[in-house]
Amino acid sequence: MSPSQLRCLKKAFTYSVQASYSTNVNLASKSEKPLFNLLGRGESEVGDLVSKEYPKFRLFQTKQILNWIYSKGVMNFQAMTNLEPGLRKHLEDNFCVDYGRIETEQRSVDGTIKRLIEYGIPENKAKGLVEAVLITENNRRTLCVSSQIGCSLNCTFCHTGTQKLLRNLTSGEILGQYMGYLHLLGGFPADPQNRKISNIVFMGQGEPLLNHRNVFSAIKTLTSPQGLSFPSKRITVSTSGVVPVIPRLAELGVNLAVSLHAVNDELRNQIVPLNKQFSIHTLLDACKAFVAASPPTTQRVTFEYVMLKDINDSTREARELVRLLHGLPAHVNLIPFNPWPGCDYECSNEEQIKEFAKIVSSKNIYTTIRYSKGQDIMAACGQLKSLNMSKAKRTPTNAIQKANLA
Ligand code: SF4
Repeated sequence: MSPSQLRCLKKAFTYSVQASYSTNVNLASKSEKPLFNLLGRGESEVGDLVSKEYPKFRLFQTKQILNWIYSKGVMNFQAMTNLEPGLRKHLEDNFCVDYGRIETEQRSVDGTIKRLIEYGIPENKAKGLVEAVLITENNRRTLCVSSQIGCSLNCTFCHTGTQKLLRNLTSGEILGQYMGYLHLLGGFPADPQNRKISNIVFMGQGEPLLNHRNVFSAIKTLTSPQGLSFPSKRITVSTSGVVPVIPRLAELGVNLAVSLHAVNDELRNQIVPLNKQFSIHTLLDACKAFVAASPPTTQRVTFEYVMLKDINDSTREARELVRLLHGLPAHVNLIPFNPWPGCDYECSNEEQIKEFAKIVSSKNIYTTIRYSKGQDIMAACGQLKSLNMSKAKRTPTNAIQKANLA
């Protein structure tokens, strides 16, 4: 790790660039002063930070810096040629633009690319590793990003749930996953008419709404004209049911996906333990509030339903699902279970999945069966887990008490 990387690491808990970005890497400085990562910081914050020790700084220069970072993908301040040399030097000595360090990159036979990215864990010897997955389907490229290192919610079908929560990702670290893939795809300078990534889903490691401040901030930068101008209607945030925050997603204009997976509280308490705090009934009320507060472009709420053999896949449960979703503009996404080592669940038979889908769709609920991609590299739904991370205990969570949902 270079001195400049180390300095980023010390200051912002984020780690600097890997070989693939090396043309844009900040030059190492003799000083050991830690660097602030500018990625993910709002316009006024960048202005305040930079001007503090550089009195000649003028406000319009904030826009210039943000333009270099987000429109051109530049990480090296010396390459920001419309800034005066003194300002470039000041930036170089005090700040960095850091996407995280790529630990590994795997490519599936179906074109899926999975990256394991390292972020810092202060005073912790464990590496802070998260996964971000790029899925290509026809003309569509979807990036699945992580929001936390590990997860506290212990959903029993999910491999990530076995990985102890180490910390929330910052908004810069969430954005770094997107920026890194955009570099890989040759997406800079950014061209809104030819987006290299068409959709972003918050379905990687972690529960996004238990880190809602940083997730909301990242989405604001993604969608803002001063940021990445990414269309909000092409962003989906998935939640296991953090009810108090769900209606607030409407203000961002993004889509909502809910990990439902069961149609009665008794079973959902087992599969998604968060249900003990927020029952199915309160969850569906929150979804209705989200729809009521959303712009007309938000057409439906997606309900994810993992198909577990002899657990939640009966025709009786399909009919109950129809009853529960009555009155909600819903899309039901049936996900054949993706096995992972040490898990006791089995995937439902194909006929059973089709029968389930037939019953739900016969009641005019848009229903799809999503066969996950990237299974050969463990990049499919519910399979994401960073190797070498500490294990979580399968115990009822007190995550909600710990998280500040205000
Ligand atoms: S499904 Fe999501 S919320 Fe549940 S354990 Fe996995 S990552 Fe966490």
